[in-house]
Amino acid sequence: MSIQSINPVNGQVVKSYTAHSEHEVSKKIAQAHLAWKHWRQVPLDEKAALLMNTAAVLRVRKDALAMTMALEMGKPLKDGVAEVEKCAAVCEYYAQNGIAYMADEAVHTEARKSYISYQPLGIVLAVMPWNFPLWQVFRFVAPGLMAGNCGLLKHASNVPGCALAIEEVLLEAGFPEHVFQTLLINSKAAGKVIEHPLVRAVTLTGSTEAGRQVAAQAAGLLKKSVLELGGSDPYLILEDADLEAAAEICVQSRLINNGQSCIAAKRFILQKGIAGEFTEIFRAKMTARITGDPLAEATQLGPMARKDLRDELHTQVQSNIQAGAKCILGGEIPDYSGDHAFYTPTILTGVRKGMPAYSEELFGPVASIMEASSIAEAVDIANDTQFGLGAAIFSRDVEKAEQIARTQLEAGSCFVNSFVKSDPRLPFGGIKGSGYGRELGLVGMHEFVNIKTVYVA
Ligand code: NDP
Repeated sequence: MSIQSINPVNGQVVKSYTAHSEHEVSKKIAQAHLAWKHWRQVPLDEKAALLMNTAAVLRVRKDALAMTMALEMGKPLKDGVAEVEKCAAVCEYYAQNGIAYMADEAVHTEARKSYISYQPLGIVLAVMPWNFPLWQVFRFVAPGLMAGNCGLLKHASNVPGCALAIEEVLLEAGFPEHVFQTLLINSKAAGKVIEHPLVRAVTLTGSTEAGRQVAAQAAGLLKKSVLELGGSDPYLILEDADLEAAAEICVQSRLINNGQSCIAAKRFILQKGIAGEFTEIFRAKMTARITGDPLAEATQLGPMARKDLRDELHTQVQSNIQAGAKCILGGEIPDYSGDHAFYTPTILTGVRKGMPAYSEELFGPVASIMEASSIAEAVDIANDTQFGLGAAIFSRDVEKAEQIARTQLEAGSCFVNSFVKSDPRLPFGGIKGSGYGRELGLVGMHEFVNIKTVYVA
């Protein structure tokens, strides 16, 4: 069986790879286990040094890595370079903080000595998506390897070149062989890996459906899982917001990675008094974004990652229009030559309960605008969703907005006057249909460790 990467600019095959056979996968799992027996005992300062090397290798290779992303999933080169920089930063973050995060913690009891010790679990399988093909993996790899686990990566089938490049980077940085390995397998074969007794846990970033299937399997085997799934982040624009600044941030967040981000702004909930004015500013800024070849310097938006995903998005847009939403920008597949996956930035207004954009995730450059007559109604609409990944609120009354963010919005990350973003220092993850568990920060590192109690009488 082969796995192909296809350039979404023109539908041409970038490269074909032979998938790993069941036998090869079993061998890799056995090698990972052997590697783990040694790796778990490597002192933390040596592990930290390897992460620092990884950051350096990433920076040396950043242009080549950005090119691989551009060709496989359409990310503009400068965004790819920024993504590689972010991967380097997360490696440095865990190199600098991981030793403290893994340190024993004394707990006073009647014992001579009692404490918590953080011990690695073993082999962790990472099932990862194509939208940030490096960042999604490195935010698992940096804390995971630093904690003493070994990693197996089942990357999305459209980014095999990125998957193999990550393994190369880690080897070049000096990580011992088999501590991290890429498996070129499809999602069906991933089930066999999860089943393997030497695989102790699984982390998945991707769609809610993929998460549900992987989580169900892991639960049946009593294996730990962390799920970072889809979102339909609400952005609340209150009447006292700085509309110009809010619109700029909203457009940036809606169009990040061409709208293909779990934490992109997706539903814009406007307080009635400013709805018309905000929509006009927002439309002007959406229109100004330059779409084109991801390899061209001026390009801000490339194609979507795959043609089937673009077609699915277009169908969603059309069904909203049929249900009564108004399309005030885009809504079309542009008439470019070649078998491309481009989609025009799109705005739907008048989105209401019952329309698909109210309840579904639109994973591409499509903004859904809704109106609310009060702050309380805006909060109700924001929370009336199966998802709970991120949310943002815009107001000049920062204290009021912070209170709403802290106590009323139902999401894993709530931002005030800013777009939702991941940061190595802060925990990241969702609630409800957006998954469970956290990545990044201290808690992200502790997801895949045995929080062991040691008691010396
Ligand atoms: P998927 O969720 O299907 O894919 C994500 C990863 O999960 C891929 O590696 C995929 O492998 C794997 N996978 C899928 N199903 C299973 C399974 N049953 N067992 C094991 N692994 C599995 O995303 P798609 O690429 O199909 O994108 C569809 C939608 O997913 C998007 O429209 C968006 O809503 C959401 N998505 C969310 C992301 C996020 O960041 N939260 C990222 C990407 C997508 P393979 O590629 O081989 O199928």
